[in-house]
Amino acid sequence: MNHLTKKKILHRWNKLRGVLVEWDLGPYRKILAKINEIDLEKSSDKELKERSARLIEQARQGSSLDKLLVEAYALVRETSWRTIRMRPFDVQVIAGIIMHQGKLAEMNTGEGKTLVAVLPAYLNALSGRGVHIHTFNDYLARRDASWMGPIFEFLGLSVGCIQEGLLPSERKKAYSADITYSTAKEAGFDFLRDHLCYRKEDLVHREFHFVIVDEADSILIDEARVPLVIAGSTDKPEADPGQLVQIAKGLKEDVDFETDEGKRNIYLTPSGLQRIETIFGCKNLHAPEHLDLLIRLNQALHAEYLLHRDIDYIVRKGKIEIVDEFTGRVVEDRHWPDGLQAAVEAKEKLRLGSGGSILGSITLQHFLELYPKISGMTATAQPAADELKQFYGLTVVVVPPNRTCIRKDHPDEIFTHKEAKNEALIDEIKHCHTTKRPVLVGTASVEESEELAAALENTGISCHVLNAKNDEMEAQIIAQAGSPGAVTISTNMAGRGTDIKLGGDKAQQRDKVVSLGGMYIIGTNRHESLRIDQQLRGRAGRQGDPGSSRFFTSLEDNLIQRYNIRNLLPKKYRSLKQDRPIDNPLVQKEIDRGQRIIEGQNFEIRKTLWKYSILVEKHREMTQRRRQEILCDGSDLGFLEDAAPKLYSKLESLMGENRMHKIEQQITLYAMDQSWTDHLAMIADIREGIHLTSVAGQSPIREFHKIVDQEFQQLEHKIEETILQTFESLPVTEKGIDLDEEGVRGPSSTWTYVITDNQFGLWVGMLQGSNIGATAVAAAAYGPLYILLGLLQRFYKKKKK
Ligand code: ADP
Ligand code: MG
Repeated sequence: MNHLTKKKILHRWNKLRGVLVEWDLGPYRKILAKINEIDLEKSSDKELKERSARLIEQARQGSSLDKLLVEAYALVRETSWRTIRMRPFDVQVIAGIIMHQGKLAEMNTGEGKTLVAVLPAYLNALSGRGVHIHTFNDYLARRDASWMGPIFEFLGLSVGCIQEGLLPSERKKAYSADITYSTAKEAGFDFLRDHLCYRKEDLVHREFHFVIVDEADSILIDEARVPLVIAGSTDKPEADPGQLVQIAKGLKEDVDFETDEGKRNIYLTPSGLQRIETIFGCKNLHAPEHLDLLIRLNQALHAEYLLHRDIDYIVRKGKIEIVDEFTGRVVEDRHWPDGLQAAVEAKEKLRLGSGGSILGSITLQHFLELYPKISGMTATAQPAADELKQFYGLTVVVVPPNRTCIRKDHPDEIFTHKEAKNEALIDEIKHCHTTKRPVLVGTASVEESEELAAALENTGISCHVLNAKNDEMEAQIIAQAGSPGAVTISTNMAGRGTDIKLGGDKAQQRDKVVSLGGMYIIGTNRHESLRIDQQLRGRAGRQGDPGSSRFFTSLEDNLIQRYNIRNLLPKKYRSLKQDRPIDNPLVQKEIDRGQRIIEGQNFEIRKTLWKYSILVEKHREMTQRRRQEILCDGSDLGFLEDAAPKLYSKLESLMGENRMHKIEQQITLYAMDQSWTDHLAMIADIREGIHLTSVAGQSPIREFHKIVDQEFQQLEHKIEETILQTFESLPVTEKGIDLDEEGVRGPSSTWTYVITDNQFGLWVGMLQGSNIGATAVAAAAYGPLYILLGLLQRFYKKKKK
C-alpha cells in the first residue's frame, strides 16, 4: 500500500471515529491571547457591570456566543478577582473555552475546576436560557453555588441551587435562575415529576439548554446506566418474599445451587430444582405458569447468597442502604429492582418498603442527552475517552496543570497473599505516623476501612475513618487529611470534590508537611477501573505540591480472584507464597493488563445495557413529548368528540366548550399515565424474566426488543380505551362532571429513587462471560434453568388475557 492511500485510510478512520483526545491547545491559546489583550484592571465596578449588561443585551438580540466569548471571559476573570479573590489562570481560561465548545476538559484535582465552570456558564447564560451545573453531590452544589455566586451576581445574573427536600415552588425558582447548581440526580427527578403534572403552572423545569457536568466521568460513565425512578402509591398486593428467603436459606451450596466464579450469578442444580418442586408441589418449575415463582426464587437466592451485609449494603434505621460497588459508599435513595429489594428486606427481616408502581423512569444517560449542549470537567477522562465519544459525542481535551505536577506514583507493592500485604501496609502507615507525614488510605469497601482502622488502633495509631454517612462532615475531615500526623482512611471516592491542603487549615504547618514529602496516598486494592485508581492518586500533589502514591495489592485480592487475573501471570507466581513483595515487573504489567481487560468488559456490559434501554427510551421520549404537548398547549385532542359523540355533545351543552376541552385534557393525561405505568411494569417483568431465558441459543436483545415493540404498538390503543372508559364511567350531575371528585388526577403520593444497575449488569456479564481466564461461564451446563423464550411470550399473552 502506498503512503498516500495509507494516509487517506487513516484520515477516514479518524473522521469516522472522531478525535477522541485532543492534546494540541494551539487554537485555544489564540483565543486566550485575545482575552489577555483586554485590560479591565482600571475599569470601575460600575463599568464592568455596564459591560455585562451590554453583553446580555447583545446575546438576547441574537449575537452569537462565540463572538461574545472574548469579552465575556475577560469580564469574568476580572470580576472573579474582585469578588472572590481568585483570578483564573491561563490554563483555567483555556479549559473554559474548551467547555464552551461542548467538549470535556481533563484537569487534575485541585486545579480549580469549580472556577473554570463559571466562564462557560456565564457566557451561555447570557441568552437567558438557563445553564445547569451538575455537581457530584448535594453538599457540593450548595458549596459551589455560594462560593461562585458572587461572580454571577456582580455581573447581573442570578444563581439557584437545588437540594434534596426543597419544595416544588423553591425548585421552580432555582431553575428559573440563570445558573442552577444541582446534582444530576435531583434535576432528573424533577424532570420525571414534571412529566406527571396535571397543570402547566406546576412544571418546575424550563426547556433545557446547556449543562456542565462536574466529575464528569463519574456521572457520564459510572452512574450513567442508573435508572432514576418515580413511583407512586397503589394498592397492588406484593408476593411474599419471606417464605422464599426461608427456602433459599435451607438450600446447600454446591448441592442445590452453584455460583459462577465471579459470584455474579447463581443457578439451581437439578437436585435443588427438585427440592423446590417438591416444596411447591409443582411438576415443572419451568412451566410458564410458574415463571413468576421462578423469578422470585432466583431473587431470593441472589439476596441470600450473593449480596452481603456491610459489603453490598448496610442496614440502618430499619432500612436497607445500598453500598455503591464503584465508590464503596452508601448511596441514598437507591433500590435494587423491586423483587430483589423485597428479598433482601425479607432476608434482614425488615418491614417491606411500601411497594408502589413505577410511574416513570429514565437513565441518567438519557436524561443528560436531553440537553442540546453538554460539556464537562474531571481529572480522569482519558481512559474513558472512547466511551465518552460513543455515548455523548464528547471529545476529551487534556489541559496541563498550572504548575507541573511533581507527585511520584510508585509501582505497586505486590504480595502473594493477604496477610503479607496487610502487615506491610500497617508497617508503612506506622512509619508515616512516626515521621508525621500525612497519609490517606483508600480502601475498596466500608468494611475494609473499618477493619484496617481497628488493626491500626491495636498498634496505637488513631485515625479518621470516613464511612460515607454525611457528605459535609466527610468534606470537613478530608480537608484536614493533609495535617501533620493525620491518618485518614476512606473508601476510594469519599470526599471527591474536596480540596486537601497541605498542613490542613493551618498555613504555617504547610512547610513542615512539604519537607516530609507532602501527602502520601496508599491504595489497598486496585479498582476495576483505572480511573478510580487515578482519582485516588490525584488526592496528592495538587497545584505543584510534593506528594506520592502507592498501591498495595495481593494475588488474593478480590479483583484478582474474581476475574482470574492470576491466570495471566507467569506460572511460577500462581501458587507462590512468600512474605516479601514480588519483584518481577512482569507481574505488575499483567495486573495492569487485567485491569484494562476488565474495563473493556465493563464497557461492553454498559453498551449492552444501553442497547436494551434504547428502544424503551425512545418510546418514553415519544410518549412524554406528546404528554407535554397536551399539557402545555392542549393540542392533539378531539378523540372523545368522535368516540362518544352523544355524551360529549350533551356535556358540552351543559359545561361549555372550554371546560369540556379541559376535561378531555385531564382524562387524556390520566389515561396516558395509567397506560404508561402498566407498560413499564410489563417491561420490568420481561426484563427480569429474560435473563432466565437467555443463553438458550436466542438473541435476548432481539427478543426483548420484539416484545417491547409489540407492547408499545398496543399502547396507543390502550390509552384510547382508557380515555373512553374513564369518560363514560364518570357520573354526570346537573352541573356536569367533577374530575377531582372522581379521582381522575395524578397519584396521591410519589417518591423517587435510583435503581442500582448491579443486578442488571450481572446477567449481562453472564451473557458475555465475565471471566478473564480461560474458564468461560458454564452457563450452558445449567440449561434446565433457562426457559425458552417462546414460553415466556406465551405466558405474557396469557397474562394479558
Ligand atoms: P478541582 O475541582 O479542580 O479539584 P477546586 O475547584 O476544588 O479544584 O479548587 C481547588 C483549590 O484551588 C481551591 O482551594 C481554590 O480556592 C483554589 N483555586 C482555584 N483556582 C484558583 C485561582 N485562579 N487562584 C487561586 N486559587 C485558586
Ligand atoms: Mg472539583
